[in-house]
Amino acid sequence: MDYYKRIRKEDKEIYKAITGEEKRQAEGLELIPSENYVSRAVKEAMASSLTNKYSEGYPGKRYYGGQEFTDQVETLAIERAKKLFKAKYANVQPLGGANANIAMYFALLEPGDTILGMDLSHGGHLTHGHPVTYLTKIFNFERYKMKNVETGEIDYDEMRRTARRIKPKIILAGFSAYPRELDYKKFVSIAREVGAISVMDIAHIAGLIAGRAAKNPFDYGFDIMTTTTHKTLRGPRGGMILVRESEEIAKKINKAVFPGFQGGPHMHQIAAKAVAFGEALRPSFKKYAKQIITNTHAMEKVFKKHKARMLTGGSDNHLILLDVWKSFGISGGEAEKLLDRAGITLNKNAIADDTRKPMDPSGIRFGTPALTTRGFKTKEAARVAEIMIEVLTARSDAAVKRAKQEIKKLALAHPIPESFK
Ligand SMILES: *Cc1c(COP(=O)(O)O)cnc(C)c1O
Repeated sequence: MDYYKRIRKEDKEIYKAITGEEKRQAEGLELIPSENYVSRAVKEAMASSLTNKYSEGYPGKRYYGGQEFTDQVETLAIERAKKLFKAKYANVQPLGGANANIAMYFALLEPGDTILGMDLSHGGHLTHGHPVTYLTKIFNFERYKMKNVETGEIDYDEMRRTARRIKPKIILAGFSAYPRELDYKKFVSIAREVGAISVMDIAHIAGLIAGRAAKNPFDYGFDIMTTTTHKTLRGPRGGMILVRESEEIAKKINKAVFPGFQGGPHMHQIAAKAVAFGEALRPSFKKYAKQIITNTHAMEKVFKKHKARMLTGGSDNHLILLDVWKSFGISGGEAEKLLDRAGITLNKNAIADDTRKPMDPSGIRFGTPALTTRGFKTKEAARVAEIMIEVLTARSDAAVKRAKQEIKKLALAHPIPESFK
């Protein structure tokens, strides 16, 4: 492989680990819904000499000299992000999704202030106030939940009552394990009623929004969106904060990201973000985003047919949560291991109000973004779902072996496209 010719010569150990990982990604099927394959162009930007440069500050306002080209890079990333998400302001410097959320909280809140966010076992993210994060030592997180886990409907009446009572400074929407679209209008109306800022963490569905396959929270009046750039959006590992229209908020966000929290921006990653945003502005990205959802629906249909229990009854986006404990009598951990042996990579996941322990919960979570990048269409996606059911039902070595052979065939028939290698 020409791409690594220097590493191959100069650092055999790392060369072996990198190429081993590439082989793993090529031969198995990746169903972790937060993972994807980035394009070769994105990788080239990440491997560029921009990594050598310190660019503390923002375009036109840097602490060091020599910023002619880094300013061009960051400005392009910002302009493309704004267009993609209909934002007036964008900060492309956060190093990851967690960093973006942390900077957003500190930009808008004082210690002790309250955030009203989605219950974690109902789909919220660690950075939305999980007790293991230090954020909970500083801010006060309160919760809203689903009213009905069979349909996924959020209890908006309860949310409004809670908001009136606790007067949060931020109402936070967004999730890493919730398969439905939210009623953005209701979020915004509740936030406005109690004088809170509305924030949507679109980390998981940014690609669906950019590809116009999911609603854009800004169209419903959300103030801020935070995101990762490496999930459905198919860019480099990183984060971003978007502001719909308030200059005052945008200024606070910029100050919180730098110098509040971070040092020099990773300009090679920002260049890669710009490349990925450029790709997402093309018509082909719309097709990809739409196909992600079509493929999820194809899998959903199979699980419905076999009467397997999906949380919220199915999915509107790129991911499905399956209650394997109720459907197959095995834990999420066991299901993850069985499917891993068959060449299907996904993760165990707690389900709403799980009766089992977090380390071995009742569910598994999986999705279609990486398969879609590989060129999977409904027929192949449905077949993957059938294979999953066969393995989870039979649980025999013979069934795993049969599944593994078929998965490998499917993977070989749909190699990672040349432009994504
Ligand atoms: C993945 C995710 C994050 C964190 O992103 P990292 O880049 O891993 O820090 C934040 N919020 C949500 C909703 C996520 O799904």
